[in-house]
Amino acid sequence: MNKELYNQVVNSFFHCDPEAITRIFNEFLTAMQAQETMPPSSGMEQNYETAQANPEIHAIPGNLKDARDAIFPYFWGTDGWSSPLHLENVKGPANYASLVGALACLLKNPNLCTDTYSQRSNELEIKAITSLANLLFYHTDDPSGVFTMGGTTSNLYGAKIGIERVAPGTMRTGLQGKKIAGIVSTASHYSNQSVAGWLGIGADNLFAIPTDEAMSMRIDLLEEQLEKLHAEGYSVAFVTATFGTTDAFGVDDVSGIRRALDEFAQRNDVTVPQLHVDAAVGWVMSFLADYDSNSNSLDFSNQMLETIQRIQVRCRGLREADSISMDFHKMGWGHYPGSALLVNRRKDLKYLARTVEDTPYFSEADERRDPALFTLECSRPALGPFSVMASLNGIGLNGWRLLAARSVDLANQLKERLEKLPYCKVLNLQTDGPHVVWWVLPKGRDAKQIYREVQAGTMKAEEYSHYTSEIQRQFDKRSKSMSPKSDARLSFTTSIGYAPKDMKIPAWKAVFFNPKTDETIIDRIIESIEDLV
Ligand SMILES: *Cc1c(COP(=O)(O)O)cnc(C)c1O
Repeated sequence: MNKELYNQVVNSFFHCDPEAITRIFNEFLTAMQAQETMPPSSGMEQNYETAQANPEIHAIPGNLKDARDAIFPYFWGTDGWSSPLHLENVKGPANYASLVGALACLLKNPNLCTDTYSQRSNELEIKAITSLANLLFYHTDDPSGVFTMGGTTSNLYGAKIGIERVAPGTMRTGLQGKKIAGIVSTASHYSNQSVAGWLGIGADNLFAIPTDEAMSMRIDLLEEQLEKLHAEGYSVAFVTATFGTTDAFGVDDVSGIRRALDEFAQRNDVTVPQLHVDAAVGWVMSFLADYDSNSNSLDFSNQMLETIQRIQVRCRGLREADSISMDFHKMGWGHYPGSALLVNRRKDLKYLARTVEDTPYFSEADERRDPALFTLECSRPALGPFSVMASLNGIGLNGWRLLAARSVDLANQLKERLEKLPYCKVLNLQTDGPHVVWWVLPKGRDAKQIYREVQAGTMKAEEYSHYTSEIQRQFDKRSKSMSPKSDARLSFTTSIGYAPKDMKIPAWKAVFFNPKTDETIIDRIIESIEDLV
């Protein structure tokens, strides 16, 4: 063996050279800052043509600069989403406290499967989970949970607990032909479909309850569906409520669902289905849950204080949930992956233990030291706990309150200004969040009247489809005439989730997610709409 070459490899890649590393890191920072002075997404055109045809691995051992060169074009060609003009979706810039946490994690690279592999990083996960649980469930007795790969996986955990509740031992025996159902709203995230499919109950057995115009699940229709499913021989394993829908920030009435589920179970003498809450987006409103409006130490406007009071009522519902999904990589402005599944009572994690034989062991073993007893993943990164704790304590409760309130405030300003235009209609006036969904019709149309007719069911499908194509055309027109330097990037949804008389409602969409977005950007949105003919 060529010992000299071997030593060179070890020296270049396994000895820490702080100067070489920080030099390269500085280059990345400089490149990123240069890009931030340019319009968003103007980095580099993609080259899928030969991405697969030209795989190449160098033959000769190189150095850290070769590592840099191997990935630099792809780094440059990726938008860091730092521009305040990005309003398309629930995606924002990552905060720098999160970066500090994430980098610390990468330096140690712990594996959270057991504490022998991760030592105090495992403890940090428990700390982070408990902080988040205290925030969302509001100082509950014995909460627990786990960081996961994302909201989809967190929803999977919630649904799985429900299946094991109503069909104990499924983890070992499989469903054995049992009829198991899950329930969501029509405005819920599509990940719930994936979850039903992957867990084997089948997406066809996931039932979607229509929402009201606030994009909130209709409790009367939920009650009907529960009885109907029971009469058809189904066991209802879970209801996944949505706290902040992805398009319009609709919030389900968690307390109302809790009541409906308890009464249903009592009436029919069946196990209470798992009440899981998908708060992937909406959890951040919990920072405002105990803001003291009387002393109003952060000087919020009266209008904002009214909004905060409505938010506080909704947040109270979270305390009645059995489990919650929350994505720090969305409204935590954190790095991926930063998602958590929180359970209100630690003992409920026993439903996730892999075998029936494990279950007695589970209660004795300390699952806090050995999360691999119940997690889907074996190796797990600690990026979540590190980036979350750094962000929570770096930014601080009041910092979070300011960030959350500002997002809602900007959304409210846009809603108010759009609603004044006769040819526009804001479709989510009743939700309190960073999202705005609205119609822009050609000048001369009465958008509010058209919307009223759609809601009342008095409009013919043909006429409606004419209007919806006008709304889409207006959007395309703005996209074509947009100035990339000053016009915000908006998106278009084909359905906001609320569908009166089964008519899907498409909309223009903006999400106020970037803390640097300000009123001048809203002014430009309004101007660009007024400029359309
Ligand atoms: C984004 C989202 C999810 C999925 O979360 P991922 O982290 O992308 O897997 C689930 N539910 C809602 C409401 C979401 O917005």
